[in-house]
Amino acid sequence: MEDPSVFEDDFASVARWIERYLGDPGRYPVLSRARPGDLVRSLPPHAPEEGEPFERILADFERLVIPGITHWNHPRFFAYFATSAAPVAILAETLAATLDVKAMLWRTSPAATELESVVMRWLGELIGIPAAWTGIIYDTASIAGFTALAAARESLGLQIRERGMTGRDLPRLRVYITEHTHSHIEKGAIALGIGQENVVRIPCDDRFAMSPAALDLQIAQDLAAGMRPLAIVATVGTTSTTSVDPVAAIAAVAKRHGVWLHVDAAYAGVAAIVPEFRWLMDGVDAADSLVVNPHKWLFVPMDLSALYVKDEALLRRAFALVPEYLTTTDGDVRNYMDYGLQLGRRFRALKLWFVLRSFGAEGLRERLREHVALAQLFASWVEAAPGWELLAPHPFSVVCFRYRPRGGDDEATLDAKNARLLDAVNATGDMFVSHTKIQGRYAIRLAIGNVRTRREDVAAAWAILEREAALV
Ligand code: PLP
Repeated sequence: MEDPSVFEDDFASVARWIERYLGDPGRYPVLSRARPGDLVRSLPPHAPEEGEPFERILADFERLVIPGITHWNHPRFFAYFATSAAPVAILAETLAATLDVKAMLWRTSPAATELESVVMRWLGELIGIPAAWTGIIYDTASIAGFTALAAARESLGLQIRERGMTGRDLPRLRVYITEHTHSHIEKGAIALGIGQENVVRIPCDDRFAMSPAALDLQIAQDLAAGMRPLAIVATVGTTSTTSVDPVAAIAAVAKRHGVWLHVDAAYAGVAAIVPEFRWLMDGVDAADSLVVNPHKWLFVPMDLSALYVKDEALLRRAFALVPEYLTTTDGDVRNYMDYGLQLGRRFRALKLWFVLRSFGAEGLRERLREHVALAQLFASWVEAAPGWELLAPHPFSVVCFRYRPRGGDDEATLDAKNARLLDAVNATGDMFVSHTKIQGRYAIRLAIGNVRTRREDVAAAWAILEREAALV
C-alpha cells in the first residue's frame, strides 16, 4: 500500500457508508426500479487508462450502482428465501478479504482449514448431524449438491473417474427426486452425464412430500429393467412450499436398494437447531450426505453452504488430483482442494465462526422462532380473510397463498389476477414478494428470514396486499 493514511480514510468512508446503509435499508425501494440496460448505459465502454481517486469511485457506487440494487437487507424483502447479512459477518468478510487466503492446502493457511473443521462440527452438532460425519464448506447448495452426486457416482464402482462414460457399455444411471426438488439436482445430473431423462420424479402426497412407497416401486422397476439407481434426493424444506420429505422412510428404501441418499436441507436445515424442529433430522443418520445453507437463514452473507458427508474418503476419491506443484510434506492434514472442483477457496469459515459466537445458539434459536411465529401470524390473517386462501401447509417461515375474491373466477383468471397483484405490490417499492405455482395454481409466496423484519413489517405487507387486491 502506498500510503496507509489514505487507506485509513477510505476505509473510514466505507465504514460510514455501511453504517448509514444498515441503519435504515428500509429507506430504499426494496425491488430495484432499474430498467434493463440502465447501468450499462451510464458507464463508459472502456476501463480507465489512469487510476481514479477513491472518493470518485465510491460516489459512483452510490450514484450508479445503488439504484440498481434490490435490497435483500430491507425488512420487507419477503421474496424467494429472505436472508440477511449480520453486521458481525460483514466484519468477518472484511477481515477475510484482507487476509485474501486461498484455503486449498492446509499449509496455505492452517487456521482457515482448521477453523472450517471446527465450525462445521459446531454447526453439525447444533443441527443434529451425526458426529462421525465430515462437514465441508462450498459456495452454494447447488455446487454442494453437484459434489454429493459426483461422490454418489464414484461410490458405484463403475470406474467412471478413470474410463469416463462414453464409448463403453454402462447401465442407465437414475436419480430420484420429486417435482418439488430444487432444479440444481437436475442441472448436476446434466453436468455429470446422467441425462435429464434419468432424473425421475417420484409422486408426492397431498402435503407435497415424496411418497416412499412410490419411490420403492420405481426403484424396483428400474432395477428389473437393468438400470442403476445412483441417488435419491430428499428435501427438508422444498423451495416452493417448504414441504418436508419423510427422510427416515426414504432412508429405509435407500438402504433396501443400496442407493445413496442426499438430503437437501438448504433452507430449513438450520431450523433443526431449535428443539421444536429437531425432528427434521430424523433419519438423517441413515443418509449419505446433507446440505444446509447458513447463507439462507442463519444470517451469514452470501456465500456459505455446508455439505456433510458420511464418508469423506468418497469425496476425495471423486475429486482428489494433486499435481506436483501442490504436493506437500504436511502429513495427516485435510487439504480442502481434494473435496471438490475448486482449487483456491475463500476463507468462508471465518464469518460463520463470528456469527455463531456473536449470536450464540440461543440468539439464533430466538430469531428463527420469531420468524416462524411471524409467518404463522401472517398465515392466520390470510386464512381468516374472506377472498384469500392458503395454498400449502406452512411449517416454517414461508406462506403460499392467493387472492380469490368471491364471484367464481376460473383458474386462468385467478392466475392472471394474482400475477397482476404481485406486480402491483412489488411496484410500490414498499415490499417484495415472489411467486410459484402449486398444483398448477399461481401462488404468491411470502418468506420471512431477515433479522430486521418485525411484526409491523409483516402487518404493512398484509395491508399493501389487501389494498392492491381491491384494485386488480
Ligand atoms: N436447495 C433448495 C431447497 C433451495 O431452495 C435452493 C435455493 O433456494 C437451493 C438448493 C440452491 O441454493 P444455492 O443458491 O445455495 O445454490
